[in-house]
Amino acid sequence: MNSDRIRDNLLSVHDRIAVAARRVGRRPESVSLVAVTKKWPVELIRPLIEAGARDLGENYPQELWRKVEALADAPGPLRWHLIGHLQGNKARRTLPLVRAIHAVDSLKLLRTLDELAAEFSDPPVVCLQVNTSGEEAKHGWSDDAILADAEAIAACQRIRVVGLMTMAAWGTDAESARPSFVRLRAVRDALAIRSGLALPELSMGMSNDFETAVEEGATLVRVGSALLEGVDA
Ligand SMILES: *Cc1c(COP(=O)(O)O)cnc(C)c1O
Repeated sequence: MNSDRIRDNLLSVHDRIAVAARRVGRRPESVSLVAVTKKWPVELIRPLIEAGARDLGENYPQELWRKVEALADAPGPLRWHLIGHLQGNKARRTLPLVRAIHAVDSLKLLRTLDELAAEFSDPPVVCLQVNTSGEEAKHGWSDDAILADAEAIAACQRIRVVGLMTMAAWGTDAESARPSFVRLRAVRDALAIRSGLALPELSMGMSNDFETAVEEGATLVRVGSALLEGVDA
């Protein structure tokens, strides 16, 4: 049964996170799993929620809007995360639906969100995306550029910037992803000093490399395909 399989997969990912955390002396509770449900039909998300998943990640704003509505009756409370690129013109509708926006990839978007945040009593928190792999196709600030923007970032005080996010290069295995994660942590440390922001969150690690990310300090891992293993779609 798909629902059994999804439950087993979820437990297994939680176990692997815990083992990786303990390996480096971290508490497993210091890492949150965001279950990435992009492209999943709602019928497969329901058993995931029934198995205990509460933090759900979607890539595309329109797909997120649709699923939030379709799952409004699901046991919760659910915390939705937008983990993909957000266009400024989709921000107003997205803001009240999500707990966190992971991939704020420009000062322009951050400023848009900062203005919009004034309209809501409990706006989401955001992470800023850093392109640690140097791949041109990836969004986000370079290491140098984000440090240069430290003051401008700190000036956005209505939206709460809580950390940084990255994606390792495509096609890398867990070990070759490590330098990206190490770099994100270093950029976070440097940006925290320059901006005066605490920046406790590091959103990094996907199905192929989340254990490495946990070893390097991830507080949010975004895992999708590992939860669908063996499931008939
Ligand atoms: C799809 C996606 C994930 C999850 O990737 P999997 O390899 O399926 O675990 C995580 N983060 C982002 C930004 C994604 O687009």
